[in-house]
Amino acid sequence: MLLQSKLPQVGLTIFTQMSQLANAHNALNLSQGFPDFDASEALKEALQRHVQAGQNQYAAMTGVPALREQVASKIARLYRNPVSAEHEVTITPGATQALFCAIQTLVRVGDEVIVFDPCYDSYEPAVTLAGGRCVHIALNSEGFSVDWQMFAEALTDKTRLVIINSPHNPSGALLSHADLNQLAELIRERDIYLLSDEVYEHLVFDGQSHSSVLAHEELYQRSCVVSSFGKTYHVTGWKTGYMVAPAKLTAELRKVHQYVSFCAVTPMQHALADFMQAQPQYVDQLPAFYQQKRDQLCQALQHSRFSFTPSASTYFQLLDYRQIRDDLSDVEMAHWLTVEHGVASIPLSVFYQQPPKDQFLLRVCFAKREDTLTLAGEVLCAI
Ligand code: PMP
Ligand code: GLN
Repeated sequence: MLLQSKLPQVGLTIFTQMSQLANAHNALNLSQGFPDFDASEALKEALQRHVQAGQNQYAAMTGVPALREQVASKIARLYRNPVSAEHEVTITPGATQALFCAIQTLVRVGDEVIVFDPCYDSYEPAVTLAGGRCVHIALNSEGFSVDWQMFAEALTDKTRLVIINSPHNPSGALLSHADLNQLAELIRERDIYLLSDEVYEHLVFDGQSHSSVLAHEELYQRSCVVSSFGKTYHVTGWKTGYMVAPAKLTAELRKVHQYVSFCAVTPMQHALADFMQAQPQYVDQLPAFYQQKRDQLCQALQHSRFSFTPSASTYFQLLDYRQIRDDLSDVEMAHWLTVEHGVASIPLSVFYQQPPKDQFLLRVCFAKREDTLTLAGEVLCAI
């Protein structure tokens, strides 16, 4: 039988490839984004407690009510948006699933979806499966800001959805409130939805703040905002996230969600709800926590041959390697560094439809222990 792939262009994700290569060569794994330190004892203890207490059957399709309440109260506190826990917040098995559901809900055959390159890898396959087509707009190579003129020119009658990601993986760039205003103005008269991937919402440095779509009254009315507990609570393996959208859109999102997974994992949701209730201010110390890690890495690399601008957000740092090997593409460089020097990273070109010429950038993850970052600094400085 002929198996015709629905995703012929898709292979193993770069995160899996590089983590596998790192493991095979016993390299420091600064590629796939996850912490090498553990979650808080209180959170792990809460999970054990709920498993022992028998919270081991299906959760409510929309999410455990206590967790939806905690998410709503965080959103009210940080973004001054009084979203309804019952009608606007849905807990999902990870942000990836929320993004997938939002795309299946909104994108119809023949629709165009605007994405910005470098673009997180899960968006385009989901758009393709929905029968849509991604229209890629490259972010400015200096500073990874959006060229709104280029965006305006990309809009057509077929544009159905725009996907934004701020704080931005892989660059760490942030959209400002002015950017959101610009976007609102350009799509105001059109039937276009917005999917806002804000999984790094709490990892913003140097006193800057995150401009959430949740805090933008006009945009929120046509948006689905996605976040992940994995990033915020150092539990990427718990695969628990959420999506927030106005009630009418949420009703449609839930129709898809209930047949993609039905619900998210039960004991994780109870543990997160307990932890958020006990420590609502926990998220407020995350910027300082990760900024210190960014600074440790940047200081360690000060005398290396990599050049860089300290990342403004997320737990990723871009490094320009052209002073070391301008004869290698970034994919080759990432392999060389892993195999020959024992440090794994992510090449940037894989996040582009058309990678810019003369770009020599690797992404490294600094969600790592102090000793890991020290060792990484020593190895990278010696190259
Ligand atoms: N969006 C972005 C930009 C990400 O970097 C990630 C994962 N790191 C996700 C979505 C997916 O989050 P989750 O692990 O909760 O599915
Ligand atoms: N989002 C993580 C990263 O950017 C990877 C998650 C995954 O492996 N799918 O590194």
